[in-house]
This record gives sequence, C-alpha cells and structure tokens, in this order.
Amino acid sequence: MAHAPEQPTVDVVAVGAHPDDVEIGCGGTLALLAQLGYQVAIVDLTDGEPTPNSPGPEVRLAEAQAAARTLGAVQRHTLPLPNRRLMDTWEARVKLATLLRRLRPRVVLSLGARTPLASPDHWQAALITEAAVFYSRLTKWDHEFDDLPPHRIEHLLYYPLGFSLWKPDTEVFPIVVDISTTMAIKMEAIGCYQTQFPPEKRHVLQRVQALAHAQGALAGVEAAEVLWSPRTVVVRDPIKWITGEF
Ligand SMILES: [Zn+2]
Repeated sequence: MAHAPEQPTVDVVAVGAHPDDVEIGCGGTLALLAQLGYQVAIVDLTDGEPTPNSPGPEVRLAEAQAAARTLGAVQRHTLPLPNRRLMDTWEARVKLATLLRRLRPRVVLSLGARTPLASPDHWQAALITEAAVFYSRLTKWDHEFDDLPPHRIEHLLYYPLGFSLWKPDTEVFPIVVDISTTMAIKMEAIGCYQTQFPPEKRHVLQRVQALAHAQGALAGVEAAEVLWSPRTVVVRDPIKWITGEF
C-alpha cells in the first residue's frame, strides 16, 4: 500500500551525473532559488569516483556536501550507480524515480545535451532523468517504487554542461537566469571540489566564469545561466516578466 514520504518534500530537484555537474551547469540558479526561499535538492546519479586526483569517494562526498551547503541546498543525495559506465537502464530509471516520488518536486532540472570529448555519463543522465520524471507520475505501478504513490512533475528544465553559447533551436526554448547576485556563490561551490580543480585545472573555473559573463552580456546583465524548456514558456504577466519585477 502507498505510504507518505519519509522526508521533507522539496520544490526543485537538480540531477547531475557526477558531483560538480549541477554546480558548473546551474549553480548560480540553484543558489538564487535557495535565496528566494525555495527548497532545493541535488541528486548525483554516481559518486563520480574514481578520478585522477581524488583519494576516494569519501573525500568527494564531503566536497559535494560542502558545495550543497554553499549553494543553500537542503538535501543532497548520491545514488549508487556506476561512474564512467552510467547507462540509461531500467534499474537506473527506477532508482531515480523512487527518489523523485519521495522528494515530490515541482520542477526537475536535468542535464540537457551531449558533452562530446567529456564523459558520456552526462547524456545518459539526461535520458535517465527524462524517464524517471515520467515514471514518477504513473499509476498502478507503486510496487516498482518502494510502494510510494505517484507524483506528477509538471515542469522539466534542462541545463548545459559544455562551453557553448546559446544558439536558437526550434525544438527547445531558452530561459536566461540572471545570476549576477549569486555568481560568487556558484564559484565558491565549484571551488569546494579541490580534488577536481587543483591549481593546474584552475583555468576551467575561469572559463565557467567567462561563459556566465558572456551569457549575461547577451542578456544585458552581469552574469547569467541559460536553461531551456521542452515546451514554450508561458508568461502570465508580460509587464512584470519583461521588467524583471518577479
Ligand atoms: Zn560530470
């Protein structure tokens, strides 16, 4: 029989393949949402280990928890799926959908694009997340998800991980988030991953920063992150929307 969630529910769940994905892709947005009073949770599908400079998963996990605290996220979960060989499988979909049924978010943020020359886990994570969002709502299937009741997630947004500027696309619709006030928090959160960004890889942080400023320049603000929606974005008060009074 279906039972109530065991832990506090959240407004937003951001899903990454590895600890540090969400910080790089949408950390400024997550920090902004937390400042606005939304309950933000982060889910890493894998522990991201092994990596060249990390002594092990415990250290990486501690870095991830420190980054979550920096962003103001209220929960961070690591699913026991395999780094480097993450695949869109039934098992992976069920694990994430079960957690989504527990957390009951209004919005899910997913990795949204292939990352050529980087880990193929990112694209698999996107496929797993899309499937899990759908599985979360299906009825007559609770036994597959620890007997948790269905939860309909109305909104899915994507975030990028690569270093490309937004290009017009007729299939998806961009949302530019002004992260001018949370840019420093984003960089501080990424900086928590000392095993991933030792001095010889500090240039990656500079590029993350430069991209945010470039995205911001295109939008007329200091720094921005671009998310995108699989549906056209509905605006209920165009004046407040265009003047940024929300
Ligand atoms: Zn990654």
